[in-house]
Amino acid sequence: MANKFERRQFLHRFGQAAIALPAMQLMHWDAMGTPALAGDGSRLAGFQDKKLGIALVGLGQYSEKQLAPALQKTLNCKLTAIVTGTPEKVAPWKEKYKIPDKNVYHYQNFDSIRDNPDVDIVYVVLPNSLHAEYTIRAAKAGKHVICEKPMATSVKDCEAMIQACKQAGKMLSIGYRLHFEPHNLTVMEFGKKKTYGNVKKIVAIDSQEMEKGVWRLDRERAGGGPLMDLGIYCVQGAIYAAGANPIRVSAKEGPKTDVEKFAEVEQTIDFQLEFPGSAIANCHTSYAESGNLLRVEAEKGQYELEPAFGYEGIKGKTPQGSMGLENVNQQALQMDDFASCIINKKPTRVPGEMGLRDVKILMAIYEAARNGRPVAISV
Ligand code: NAD
Repeated sequence: MANKFERRQFLHRFGQAAIALPAMQLMHWDAMGTPALAGDGSRLAGFQDKKLGIALVGLGQYSEKQLAPALQKTLNCKLTAIVTGTPEKVAPWKEKYKIPDKNVYHYQNFDSIRDNPDVDIVYVVLPNSLHAEYTIRAAKAGKHVICEKPMATSVKDCEAMIQACKQAGKMLSIGYRLHFEPHNLTVMEFGKKKTYGNVKKIVAIDSQEMEKGVWRLDRERAGGGPLMDLGIYCVQGAIYAAGANPIRVSAKEGPKTDVEKFAEVEQTIDFQLEFPGSAIANCHTSYAESGNLLRVEAEKGQYELEPAFGYEGIKGKTPQGSMGLENVNQQALQMDDFASCIINKKPTRVPGEMGLRDVKILMAIYEAARNGRPVAISV
């Protein structure tokens, strides 16, 4: 059992909500705030010797504003290396995170990371179309991989990534941070346990205004528009709210109010996922408005998260009132959990196979929108 001090350490780092949730399967801490026990009570092998080293590939917004700061709070892993194609970023990153020259890479010499014992995990945080290449190169270099969502821009690429990691005997996980977030975990648990009876209807919305001229509006690099970037959270949310995978989808692209900006990708898309039984999820995603909601109507009541999918500020309501959960550092928990899975040789809850499933569903949504007919999903 964690003593009072351990509990205080935990609350200080991750908020009260996390400790209340058995589904978090997190660690207990020793007196120095070091993880001592895995979620199942087993000792973390080698935890005292070394935190696993992470190399961030791509130093854009998500790496700079979320992942690198989160890596200052992780207990099983730390930032040891960077991979960037922008020379001006090297000095500030080196200075801020005390990264030695030998741990700074660019895209051309990236493969030599195989010889660097400071790096155990490569975290791919590049535009979507580059996820496959860098995941496969990382696996071939003998590193475990976290790849950002969406896993890739095609099903074929996802399969090749899974195969490459298997062949190398390395673990692959997808940056699905909400699987470490207490409100979303609660919705998952309600779906799994049917706490409010069978789920009947789900509404999932994730929309954000997108500025002009960014790779997210370039079909080649993004693989699509808001569906690939934000709609994937609606797909994920609908699946864990329903506690099942969808069997059919219908979809319709919305009108473009800015045809120049959205020349290559959809501006808005609505889709409906059908689940076994009679549950349906009505989903909406757009790059021309804002919205963030996961609402579930079940036999015995309605519950919802709003906002549902952000880094912070998530709020949840059940028929009994506020969920009363706090927000946590999702990225720190996600990366620590992956490191713990590697150390303890346990499967990750967000594996490459989950990323592949979701990309199959995204492709089915596009197909349904293109053809104006429902598409059967087998995942
Ligand atoms: P960003 O545009 O801020 O950064 C992208 C980085 O890739 C930049 O450093 C850029 O220099 C580099 N890059 C290398 N080759 C490039 C190329 N050919 N074109 C454009 N940039 C190139 O993007 P971001 O917001 O950091 O997103 C990166 C990845 O992380 C995406 O896959 C995105 O979906 C994912 N992401 C996930 C979350 C999450 O909550 N899990 C949040 C944000 C982004």
